Amino acid sequence: MSDPRYSVVGSTYPLDSKQRALIELADSLGPRFAERAERYDREASFPHENYADLRAAGLLGLCVPERFGGRGADLRTYSIVSATLGKYCGATALTYNMHACSMLWPGALSDDLDMTPAQRAEHDRHRAIHYQRVIRDGAIYAQPFSEGSAAAAGRAPFGTTATRVSGGWSVNGKKIFASLSGAAHYYGVLCTEAKPELSMRDTLYMAVPGNAPGLSIIGDWDPLGMRGTVSRTLLFKDVFVPDEAQMMPRGIYFQAASRWPHMFTTLSPTYLGIAIAAYEFTVRYLRGEVEGMPPVKRRMYPTKQIAVAEMWVKLEQTRSLFLRMLEDARVDPPKDARLRAYAAQFSIMENANAICGLAIRTCGGQSMLKSLPLERLYRDSRCGSLMLPWTAELCLDRIGREALYEPGESDD
Ligand SMILES: Cc1cc2nc3c(=O)[nH]c(=O)nc-3n(C[C@H](O)[C@H](O)[C@H](O)COP(=O)(O)OP(=O)(O)OC[C@H]3O[C@@H](n4cnc5c(N)ncnc54)[C@H](O)[C@@H]3O)c2cc1C
Repeated sequence: MSDPRYSVVGSTYPLDSKQRALIELADSLGPRFAERAERYDREASFPHENYADLRAAGLLGLCVPERFGGRGADLRTYSIVSATLGKYCGATALTYNMHACSMLWPGALSDDLDMTPAQRAEHDRHRAIHYQRVIRDGAIYAQPFSEGSAAAAGRAPFGTTATRVSGGWSVNGKKIFASLSGAAHYYGVLCTEAKPELSMRDTLYMAVPGNAPGLSIIGDWDPLGMRGTVSRTLLFKDVFVPDEAQMMPRGIYFQAASRWPHMFTTLSPTYLGIAIAAYEFTVRYLRGEVEGMPPVKRRMYPTKQIAVAEMWVKLEQTRSLFLRMLEDARVDPPKDARLRAYAAQFSIMENANAICGLAIRTCGGQSMLKSLPLERLYRDSRCGSLMLPWTAELCLDRIGREALYEPGESDD
């Protein structure tokens, strides 16, 4: 392990041998990811080489259950591995989240949900197909859910619809911010079963092949940060998918979203990784140890020491809440655990950006040049709290409401 101060868990956190090995594996890929990150960011291009490395390392199957040939990582293990990748390349970690969770949600997470024996058997048949594509063929899955409406926030049915047709479904609609656009082999789309009245209970989760007739990718991609995610717009026009495209049986996504809230915390590890990277950079910079920079030390100034102390306090608060949140993650968590998950997500996203801001102020003007990674970390870190369904605003919204109202209570 590298210096434990810059690891996701520190030196004393209890890990099993599988988790330790996976962190070491992620750390071993990291330096190459860090080297390539500047180019992906500059070009706003997808990190294909990093995905080739992830594939070769067997990490595309991280969250595929062992009995389907994967590494069987649960949410906690996934999150620690993902945060480790986030230290080296934010865009790779964020897109890896979309792929890994496409495996985790139909896997370990779905095993906790109520299904009839027929649904369970159907789900096993379908997920075996998705898992085989990843394990045997090295396929990559994306998770385009956002539509620019209240749906991705969990407040309205998705406007993208799936109509029952012979042998499968016909998908119509639009998804914005589809990370991995053009790079994914399958897009795991959330859509609503077309009925006279659309209902969130009828949400379907379908894997649409990247080369399906009727699917097109439009628009450009030139954002502030997370540029390597290449999150363009997808259009679906009468796209046929067979029944086996379902990644969860009908109605089960709605159950998952209600009963397994920590499934929405999985974007946050990327941003913890970014916060750690910014802290590590600052220490190395002030010690005059950054490669390619003159070995000028700046650590003797008391103001710099105080700033580093503030950054460490913020980082430790963030990391501790992250690890505690992971211990809470389970089906039907108690209310305090749910509130803590919102608080953790809020803190990780906001503190990552605050730590990057402090890093730039403390290191000074030369540190924000494009030849160094800090300005990219700063821009990438700004994106975390904008990501639905648990944006910083929506986390506060939920904490406030759920703290003051019990289920079913109103003031009428
Ligand atoms: C780098 C990047 C990659 C992304 N990748 C993906 C991806 O792969 N898949 C995907 O599905 N999405 C992805 N997204 C999209 C992201 O999750 C959000 O959907 C998107 O940022 C929302 O933008 P918007 O302007 O449409 O937000 P709006 O819906 O206009 O919301 C703006 C803000 O208003 C608040 N808000 C929204 N709805 C409500 C509500 N009902 N009540 C109260 N407040 C509300 C929220 O705080 C929100 O941030 C990505 C975003 C970024 C920045």
